[in-house]
Amino acid sequence: MLALLAEGPGVAALEEVPAPRPGPGEVVVRVDVALTCGTDLKLLRRGHPKFPFPLVLGHEWAGRVESAGDGVDLPSGLRVTAAVTGPCGECAACRAGRQHLCESAFDHPSWGAFAGRMRIPARVVRSGLLPVPDGLALEAAALIDPVASVVHALDRSPLEGRPDVLVHGSGPIALTFAALLPLWGAGRVVVAGRRTARLERIRRTGATVVNVVASSLPAALAEATAGRGAGLVVDTSGEASLVPGLVDLVASGGTLLLFAGMPRETRIDLSAYRLHYEEVTVTGSFHYRPADVRKSLSLLSEGALPVEDLVTRRRPLSEWAEAFADLSRGDGMKTALLP
Ligand SMILES: [Zn+2]
Ligand SMILES: [Zn+2]
Repeated sequence: MLALLAEGPGVAALEEVPAPRPGPGEVVVRVDVALTCGTDLKLLRRGHPKFPFPLVLGHEWAGRVESAGDGVDLPSGLRVTAAVTGPCGECAACRAGRQHLCESAFDHPSWGAFAGRMRIPARVVRSGLLPVPDGLALEAAALIDPVASVVHALDRSPLEGRPDVLVHGSGPIALTFAALLPLWGAGRVVVAGRRTARLERIRRTGATVVNVVASSLPAALAEATAGRGAGLVVDTSGEASLVPGLVDLVASGGTLLLFAGMPRETRIDLSAYRLHYEEVTVTGSFHYRPADVRKSLSLLSEGALPVEDLVTRRRPLSEWAEAFADLSRGDGMKTALLP
């Protein structure tokens, strides 16, 4: 089968590789659709602390069971999608209910969706392989991973008292936050970014959008929130140099949540004055738990996400390079790659 194999930073090609076979507890799926994601682009450019080269790219997918290993009772042809990881259930983090921080979750990921088939490890089969409900398109079900990450971040966000929220960035994650924040009880949602066409899609969620190239973000935020400011600011851009400016935009007593990952060596400057005298909290959120994954699939089934604005183009897998170029230019949101 053909698979998009990344050999090292910047080096990837569609290559013929042996089709996987399921070991005990494992499942092999036929991939129907796999979505592009900024994580694949970053991984290809600079590597990823959790996913060393060489590897097959792609991790947002839906498809059908092709074959199941010993101990797995799933019919062939069943429509499925899956989390990227399955927690061990035994480490300190898992026992404390923080399965997203499981010490070994990333030792056996389900990764490699830009291919005709992929092998789902036993741990993911146990806790994260889910049947796609009737009536939910596979293209929508493929969003389970990014939506679960946002669900997890929202559960970590202090939203009591309906604070106004600023989301920084204009990609698919910012759009997902804009769609879900009202369901978690946020007040006014303001999304700030640089890409006009993407901001127009985000505006359809009801959020106020601000193009930071054309206008002053502090002034636009003050206007949109009637001077209250943002009790929660979420960064989805991962641009470390912009973090000090985002700290300045958090209302007194509020929180900055760093959603986007940054390179391991990144350090950020924080205002000690704001942290102490104004009790601004800076925190992060990473990945998700099995419960977030199930919640994500139910939100997608209920139509809570604007799938047509999240997946904006379809291409055969052979056009992966064009799809990655679209992604890096911010042209459209996600592309569905069809093997
Ligand atoms: Zn992703
Ligand atoms: Zn664990």
